[in-house]
Amino acid sequence: MKRDDLVRTLSRLKGFETPVPSLEQVSTPPEAALDLFEAALARRDLDGRTVLDLGSGTGVLSIGASLLGAREVTGVEVDPRAVAVAEENARTAGAHVRFLVSDVSDVALVAETVVMNPPFGAQRRHADRPFWDRVAAIAPRALYAFALADSRTFIERWAVAQGVSIDLTRTVRWEFPRTFPHHRKVRVELPVDLWVLRRESTP
Ligand code: SAH
Repeated sequence: MKRDDLVRTLSRLKGFETPVPSLEQVSTPPEAALDLFEAALARRDLDGRTVLDLGSGTGVLSIGASLLGAREVTGVEVDPRAVAVAEENARTAGAHVRFLVSDVSDVALVAETVVMNPPFGAQRRHADRPFWDRVAAIAPRALYAFALADSRTFIERWAVAQGVSIDLTRTVRWEFPRTFPHHRKVRVELPVDLWVLRRESTP
């Protein structure tokens, strides 16, 4: 699928119907998702791979991974209403994804590649920590994650503790329409990094 087609498809997906602030339900903006997918394609971490999307929300990352050739994609999401939207989005986009309603802490799944846009911990401090703990247990070949810039030290330490290498840290354009009452502006822009962490350098 071509870059423009993918952005168009992702832009058409339904968002959260009534986003829950405590769960930080903000869908990955299509351009930022594309940055993640381009990094993953260049590193051969999608095509033919098993992919797990932690906190899959309305399915942006799961659906993109499926459309770009992942062998098997599973999305895990605690909010059943978000899963209902994600399933509808996958059908509309022609993607094959299995969505599970579960807290990420409660799933014992493995995958070659993990993708995640977890809560950034802006509403509830450390809301992203169960996600990083789960990735440690899964120990995938590669992890693609979005995080706020102020999580850099935490992630660098996490990588050392897990014995994984940091392949990429790159600031992405992360802009979305006002979602929650505490958002003062019509468009919200956040300092977000894309991280690629890997366990081994060979494909
Ligand atoms: N990954 C999606 C959604 C990001 S928003 C995307 O990129 O568009 C973060 C998502 O994580 C929300 O849908 C929220 O409901 C979910 N979430 C938050 N805490 C969770 C937990 N402990 N277990 C599973 N999902 C969780």
